[in-house]
Amino acid sequence: MAHLIDGKQFAAKLRKKMTGQIASMKADHNIVPGLAVVLVGEDPASQVYVRSKGKQAKECGITSIEHKLEDTTSEEFLLNLISDMNKDPAINGILVQLPLPKHINSAKVLEAIDPAKDVDGFHPINVGMLSTGGEGMIPCTPLGSLMMLQDYHGDLTGMKAVVVGRSNIVGKPMFNLLLQQSCTVTVAHSRTKNIEAVVREADIVVAAVGVPELVKGDWIKPGATVIDVGINRIETPEGKTKLVGDVHFESAEKVAGAITPVPGGVGPMTIACLLYNTMVATCRHNGVEVPAA
Ligand code: NAD
Repeated sequence: MAHLIDGKQFAAKLRKKMTGQIASMKADHNIVPGLAVVLVGEDPASQVYVRSKGKQAKECGITSIEHKLEDTTSEEFLLNLISDMNKDPAINGILVQLPLPKHINSAKVLEAIDPAKDVDGFHPINVGMLSTGGEGMIPCTPLGSLMMLQDYHGDLTGMKAVVVGRSNIVGKPMFNLLLQQSCTVTVAHSRTKNIEAVVREADIVVAAVGVPELVKGDWIKPGATVIDVGINRIETPEGKTKLVGDVHFESAEKVAGAITPVPGGVGPMTIACLLYNTMVATCRHNGVEVPAA
């Protein structure tokens, strides 16, 4: 049976470490990181995410500012709010919760955020920084996935990695991060031919597809490490609902060397990395050395 990579425990350890680092920043430099989260509309999943982000930020000593706006909010209002927050020295991180209502142009909004405060790492400047190896902000979910891989394996040099999914928020940044770690990386996607055989080559599989339990045990090379980014709510035969990943856990855990569960794998690491990015941004804004994760 595969070793279970416990993201919940890893995230708790990371938050504990950051709590100490943030307390030292306050004691030594009188700096308190500030994170602003903007939620437009009433999307229930987004409300849950925003609530946990705010709660966990406060627990780590980060000032959390929440802007809950009506779903009729205009694009102009949102852009003005972002412009004000870009200028506010007490705010080090700005996150606009996606999806936004249809009448608002998401790309325009994300591009309005100061790249140095873009703790989601979605601004084109940060995307470019990641692909050229510059000092930008790294998207939280791929960053959390990489941290777990490095914690488990140490050096990833020379490992063969397959990322399944090529989205801007997970697949592509994950590709760049693994490449930076000197892995040999393949990105598989919905048009990949014979995808099972491609995945079977990998020492590391990162699944970010949004298709429940797509990656089966017989796609996995024996002993490979599997990071399951997927979060899918499915209906059970009993008529209840449950969360599953993009990997068929039951069959994969019999073949893999290590695997992340859903829930309790990548999910908790995403929020922990948002707080980590906020701390990094705060250090950079104040010219303070960034503590190690
Ligand atoms: P997306 O829909 O933007 O992209 C999915 C990608 O998967 C696409 O590039 C597509 O080419 C590929 N794909 C789709 N069907 C495929 C198939 N049958 N075979 C191979 N590739 C296929 O999704 P996303 O935003 O990258 O999210 C992916 C999953 O990760 C979702 O389940 C999402 O809920 C989850 N997610 C989790 C977190 C977290 O915090 N754990 C964060 C972001 C996304």
